[in-house]
Amino acid sequence: MEFRNYIGGEWLETTAITANVNPSDISDVLGHAAQATDEDMDRAIAAARDAAPLWAATTPQQRFDVLDAAGSELLARKEELGRLLSREEGKTLAEGIGEVARAGQIFKFFAGECLRQRGDHLASVRPGIGVDVTRAPVGVVGLITPWNFPIAIPAWKIAPALAHGNAVILKPAELVPGCAHALVEILSRTGLPAGVVNLVIGRGSELGPRLIEDARVNAISFTGSVPTGRGIAAACGARLKKVQLEMGGKNPMVVLDDADLGVAVKACLNGAFYSTGQRCTASSRLVVTEGIHDRFVAALIERMHALKVGHALDPETQMGPAVDARQLDQNLSYLDIAAADGGEVIGGERLGRATEGFYMAPALVTGTDAAMRINREEVFGPVASVIRVKDYDAALAVANDTEFGLSAGICTTSLKHATHFKAHAQAGMVMVNLPTAGVDYHVPFGGTKGSSFGSREQGTYAAEFYTTVKTAYTLA
Ligand code: NAD
Repeated sequence: MEFRNYIGGEWLETTAITANVNPSDISDVLGHAAQATDEDMDRAIAAARDAAPLWAATTPQQRFDVLDAAGSELLARKEELGRLLSREEGKTLAEGIGEVARAGQIFKFFAGECLRQRGDHLASVRPGIGVDVTRAPVGVVGLITPWNFPIAIPAWKIAPALAHGNAVILKPAELVPGCAHALVEILSRTGLPAGVVNLVIGRGSELGPRLIEDARVNAISFTGSVPTGRGIAAACGARLKKVQLEMGGKNPMVVLDDADLGVAVKACLNGAFYSTGQRCTASSRLVVTEGIHDRFVAALIERMHALKVGHALDPETQMGPAVDARQLDQNLSYLDIAAADGGEVIGGERLGRATEGFYMAPALVTGTDAAMRINREEVFGPVASVIRVKDYDAALAVANDTEFGLSAGICTTSLKHATHFKAHAQAGMVMVNLPTAGVDYHVPFGGTKGSSFGSREQGTYAAEFYTTVKTAYTLA
């Protein structure tokens, strides 16, 4: 299988050179991916620039039909594409299928948004004048995406971009060209004019700057790591280019003495270890009050040890491998750092399985404090640390003691503490008695502080980024 670039409505003939390897079984090569050149990126930008006015002039019905068709096909093929996703990225088959279904629902939601293009009409403060406030497309939008949600994240950027009348260039992460290729292949058969959606596969450090620095690209939506995001923000700022960044997390889950132990353990097990902990919203700091600490830790360790780690496509598997050798090494090195800083590491061994892959056991680090590196830096693996605190006030202070602010959770049966936490947790998303990860597709997604920059993604709030507001005055 060749994962090719799609530019100006054509799949480019290419010498596909980069092997796409299954992290559950490195002898399983999914195919080979193209490496776009600077010239390819230049052509993609030119194609999007030409197509943008055509797409902006389409009717809501035309846009609805395209997005609805894409959503229907994703939903109809969720088993097959979920399998591809799990083979390529390593999350379990159930998680892979769930992600494809979510991408389908996102397209369906934004198909509906095509029919709900909103505006305001206000009376002027001056006599005889009416004021119309409408939204216009931004134009050409560059979409740069990470590997950990290889279909859902491209979907939640492409769908609103198209719904609001923009042309796009998708630059997916190097590790997951197969999912991007599959998604764009579906879009290529929906009746979209050539050039409205372009796929450019290749190295981010080379292609990313071309996309960002080109004056024909009006806006950049990025999801990925903090260092890359910071560089993109600086480059866009220098060019006064609209930018939206979703980056890392160090998400706290507070467990109070009055929590339902079963609810808390379930939420933390899911939040910390599902999807191999490779979620920006993963619960990586478990902030636990004294009265429940020992019971909670004992119960969580028992459940953690029982998790079945294995090949992503094995139906018995509950946790798949790390995405690649680099990520696995990073996870294991953070366990060494945590131990050297005085934490007690439980689990976290490198595991051998029938097929050679990047397997490790989930890990819990107990006896940590908020200042340790394990509690300050994103690991992005199946690793959670426990911070013991005296009471709710101390828990809230520790939860907020981070440069990140994506998601924060609390497990409690106290309405008072839940209400206070929702108001005072410094995070874009707050969960009560639920894992920090796992969100709906029709409501805004994003963080505060160092986790996000710019306006929110998803739901009706996505319009803020993918449109520009126009205020028109008319004297009748
Ligand atoms: P990454 O920053 O390494 O790469 C993300 C994308 O940026 C890739 O497509 C990559 O090719 C591209 N890129 C790399 N260098 C670039 C450059 N100089 N200019 C422009 N683009 C460049 O991140 P990753 O390892 O793919 O993803 C993991 C990170 O993503 C984690 O930090 C995770 O928290 C974050 N993430 C955040 C969210 C969120 O919504 N907040 C969601 C998922 C993942």
